[in-house]
Amino acid sequence: MKRRNQQHWFWIAAGIAAVALIPLLRNGWIAGRIARVADSVLAGDDRPTQAVGGSVADGDTFSTLDGEAVRLLGIDAPEHGELFSQQAKRRLRELVVGREVDLVYDVEKTDRYGRLLCHVHADGLWVNKALVSEGLANVYIVRPNLDKTAELVSAQKAARTRKAGIWSVPPPSPEPYYLRSKNSFRFHRPSCKLAREISPKNAVKLTNREAALDAGLSPCRTCRP
Ligand SMILES: [Zn+2]
Repeated sequence: MKRRNQQHWFWIAAGIAAVALIPLLRNGWIAGRIARVADSVLAGDDRPTQAVGGSVADGDTFSTLDGEAVRLLGIDAPEHGELFSQQAKRRLRELVVGREVDLVYDVEKTDRYGRLLCHVHADGLWVNKALVSEGLANVYIVRPNLDKTAELVSAQKAARTRKAGIWSVPPPSPEPYYLRSKNSFRFHRPSCKLAREISPKNAVKLTNREAALDAGLSPCRTCRP
């Protein structure tokens, strides 16, 4: 009899808990979390979906307290020694170090260096987009990770209009046109050796730098157009 009573109370408590959970499930946050965990379990993937920020390497890379390196997807912050590199690094430090962050993956989970490729969310702030919005990183899309391209490009457009951060300095002298490959998200000066390697059937001519940036392309790191 006692055991039956205990079971009875268990099911009442479970029922109350389920009813209390419905609004949380509905608001999408928990549903999204469950979906992501389910995805990674189904994929046999043990990549973390949460971590605590440890130390920052530069404006787009940090380590978690567990020692995993995280490369922020879809963006590129100025390299060490370049303008705004220190500001970008400091800002990323403010946003992630000592904080619990959510890690959201796209198609590729890691890069060739074993770094986790993530969109990082800290206290409800999407860190990748925040850095672009503040002019502390430019959009840098690598196939096949295209999920958030439109949102990042639109944040970059707004940052350019406001001349925030990296967009506050005058752009390099313009070329009569630029080149890209249909298969890549970089654009080049016509004289760049990488531009000359693009096969004619894939080459696309762009009339100006702004059009290239608005198309989600980023300047080649060799010819720096
Ligand atoms: Zn180039």
